Amino acid sequence: MKRCSLMSDIAGKPCILCCAITGSVPRKADNPAVPISVAEQIESSHAAVEAGASIIHAHVRNDDETPSSDPDKFAVLKEGLEKHCPGVIIQFSTGGRSGAGWERGGMLSLKPDMASLSVGSNNFPTRVYENPPDLVAWLASEMQEFSVTPEVEAFDLSHLLQAQAMHAQGKLFGKLYVQFVMGVKNAMPVDKEVFDFYVQIMQSRAPDAAWCAAGIGAAQIVVNEWAIAAGGHTRAGLEDNVRLNKAALAPSNAALISRAADLCAKYDRPVASPAEARAILGLRPA
Ligand code: MG
Repeated sequence: MKRCSLMSDIAGKPCILCCAITGSVPRKADNPAVPISVAEQIESSHAAVEAGASIIHAHVRNDDETPSSDPDKFAVLKEGLEKHCPGVIIQFSTGGRSGAGWERGGMLSLKPDMASLSVGSNNFPTRVYENPPDLVAWLASEMQEFSVTPEVEAFDLSHLLQAQAMHAQGKLFGKLYVQFVMGVKNAMPVDKEVFDFYVQIMQSRAPDAAWCAAGIGAAQIVVNEWAIAAGGHTRAGLEDNVRLNKAALAPSNAALISRAADLCAKYDRPVASPAEARAILGLRPA
């Protein structure tokens, strides 16, 4: 019975699918479909948008596949996405794997619709993910200056509460949007009880905010389903997961978005168009 009442609450509510196309970690050796060049990124994004993605979360890479934070590369990518994926929400990563310190915000002056923002530190698989308070405050202030809506990456419960506090203090541009990230080794595991608590904390303390969730590796599809079933938004793509299952690599970013779109259908949730996603997130029209 509980499931029926929950489903009636979410039925018909559009679900935003974000495609994390490249990231900083996976290489062609892991999956040849990982888009590295800007041309590959635009082609892969186009197919993902056709499959239902309304946000493209992007990192850029050097020719040797190592991570880059070069604003010129971001500029070329933005121009290509605007041309070939009109209306899609462009979200640049300010994550710490693509650059160090203040380099991480060098592309914000390009005024993407959104940028990822980490608001606290935690461990990553082989290192500390450092987000000291002065850097977080600077990235948030740059986003305000350039009218960039942050997607706060919550790798831990404290990040979720910090996001709410910063938003209440007027330090985050636009509407509050928080992504729960689960399954990064040495950070928050994929845990349904914690996920449910995250949702509860968002609904009770920031009822006007929106939230999404992402799972890493084989948990991508698991967290996609939790988020869709709970009325949130979700993220898929080769940045977080290069496989369809144990036996097969994902053939494309679009294939991972299609899987999430199929889950939206299962829960009676229409996949949000880019225009609908812009309205839900309080972003400027394209
Ligand atoms: Mg990223």
